Amino acid sequence: MPKTKKPVVKKEIKKKNTVQQKTESEAPKLTKKEQEAKKLDKRRRKASDNWGLLRGMRDILPEDQKYWRKCLDTAYDITDYFLYNKIDMPVIEEAKLFIRSVGKGTDIVDKEMYSFEDKDGKKVTLRPEGTASAVRAYITHGMWNSPQPVKLWYMLPMFRHEKPQAGRYRQHTQFGCECFGADDPSVDAEIILMSYNFFKDLGLPVRIKINSIGDPEERDRYKQELITYLRTKRSYLCEDCKKRINRSPLRVLDCKREDCQPVIEDAPQIIDWLQEDSKNHFMSILEYLDELEVPYVLEPKLVRGLDYYNGMVFEVFYEDLENETAQSALGGGGRYDLLIESMGSNHTPAVGFSVGVDRVVNLMKTHLPKKKKDIKDREVDIYLAHLGKDARRVALRLLNELRGSKIKIGFNFFKEALKNQLEAANKLNVPYVLIIGQKELQDGTIIIRDMESGVQEIIDQQKIESHLKKKMKTCLPSGRKK
Ligand code: AMP
Repeated sequence: MPKTKKPVVKKEIKKKNTVQQKTESEAPKLTKKEQEAKKLDKRRRKASDNWGLLRGMRDILPEDQKYWRKCLDTAYDITDYFLYNKIDMPVIEEAKLFIRSVGKGTDIVDKEMYSFEDKDGKKVTLRPEGTASAVRAYITHGMWNSPQPVKLWYMLPMFRHEKPQAGRYRQHTQFGCECFGADDPSVDAEIILMSYNFFKDLGLPVRIKINSIGDPEERDRYKQELITYLRTKRSYLCEDCKKRINRSPLRVLDCKREDCQPVIEDAPQIIDWLQEDSKNHFMSILEYLDELEVPYVLEPKLVRGLDYYNGMVFEVFYEDLENETAQSALGGGGRYDLLIESMGSNHTPAVGFSVGVDRVVNLMKTHLPKKKKDIKDREVDIYLAHLGKDARRVALRLLNELRGSKIKIGFNFFKEALKNQLEAANKLNVPYVLIIGQKELQDGTIIIRDMESGVQEIIDQQKIESHLKKKMKTCLPSGRKK
């Protein structure tokens, strides 16, 4: 190395050091408090990095709960009206339940189930979909003894180990309805109508795609025809579909890959393989939908990805979505007349649907017009403020005593200063504030302050409820003054 280079390097290092020293000395000195705050912030960030979510999982945060509550309330309204009864099933079931019902060869069973052996060596699975569990419950509890049809509904989490992306999560929630023991097309129509009404009541315009996949014999004959056709087009299909040709040819029709679309377009249509009975059943459902003015489009390639369906199948999509993908399906369902029998029970026709609530909530947040999106958070009629520790104790007692009054009370016992509490009350736009301080504690009274006029009254603590109710009569239901 030439001798001259050494001092240059040294010089540069020296220069760099001085710059560094300079910037350090120029950096504003942090006060002790600021240093503490910085340390705390670093600690918090490190903890939050340490305690992340599992991939594909998410928290439903408080700010989104109003949408979830709206979905749940709407589900209750609709199911009450159509006389469905709520059922909750365990999150974990025997693995064989889903393998038998959803079927080998489906994505759910082959790739997506959270399955493991429990401590007794039993193969168990976190529920990936609700129908199988509802059928299991129908059989377990001998519901065939109840007057038929048996109508059940649920809103429960499902688990699928899929590749996470927008609208596709490894834990998601489905609202589902299942009707057991009736084979009339009016029941198919009722199921479609309920799913349609769910979206209508939420203010989301949807489109129903509908098809019939016939009975097993019709489907087998069609499958042969489809396999013959797909073999001639093999080279145009994606790698997954090539594998599906013999194993599950109907699933090719469900493929969303662009390269497969021309082949799917020209494929034979199952509707042409339906016999008289299946055709008539399907036509009757369509007539019901016409009568009910439920908008639908016939979708001859719709097959649904689960094994247990027969006859009518349908899916629900948001009306205005320009680019439909597999993730834009909001719900789906159909008939599964043979499932209960295939699980060893009696022949029991059945039909149902399920809706992905996570996707519905995403849509509500992005697509609802502002007025409809303004779903009210918890509303407050009155604010309860306190002054001092002793008053806080009595305030908490009064809060509890007023629980039965149905008056919605705002409070924040963590806030000490009355000024802060009144500010909070102002933000909530309440007409009155109750104030309890030292004097009121001794007298057994409480102050009612009119927030608009600033006028204050003192009343007996015993009479708060009747007094408030009288005052609230002059308010709107939300608590705002008339
Ligand atoms: P499926 O029975 O698979 O059609 O599921 C019914 C509905 O649940 C779908 O239409 C979606 O809205 C929703 N869904 C299915 N899988 C997921 C998922 N991984 N993440 C979020 N929603 C899902």
